Amino acid sequence: MAIVEGVCGKTEPDADSPICPVCQEPGQKVKEVTVRSLLKKEKRNGLAGTEYFLCLSRQCPTSYYTKEGTHFTKYDLTVPIWYKEESPVPICYCKGVTDEVILDHVINRGCCTTLDEIKAHTGANTGKECLTKNPAGR
Ligand SMILES: [Zn+2]
Ligand SMILES: [Zn+2]
Repeated sequence: MAIVEGVCGKTEPDADSPICPVCQEPGQKVKEVTVRSLLKKEKRNGLAGTEYFLCLSRQCPTSYYTKEGTHFTKYDLTVPIWYKEESPVPICYCKGVTDEVILDHVINRGCCTTLDEIKAHTGANTGKECLTKNPAGR
């Protein structure tokens, strides 16, 4: 649902991004601090200060990859990547708001129709830790 997708963690392929080595689709550039923050501790050794990209394909198990071909799976992260999992999934990682909570406001309660209302009612999109908590880093 569009209103849920627009709340946090914007994802769109970068034109100059290398393709994911697994699904061959272009990804989105992310900062190393995001990758470092979300990778499980035992996986962080593989980080070497290069450029990282987030795989945007729903079906692909890859999370982050580099143009050199290093890649991590979604299971290497401490949080689920929302568009690769079934509902309920986190939408706002800072405030721990799921798609179910937002859809409840929009559909069942009918009290939210705009992003501003969703922000005010659920707290989604009001956090400041996206860089280190949201897999998209924003
Ligand atoms: Zn992929
Ligand atoms: Zn509401």
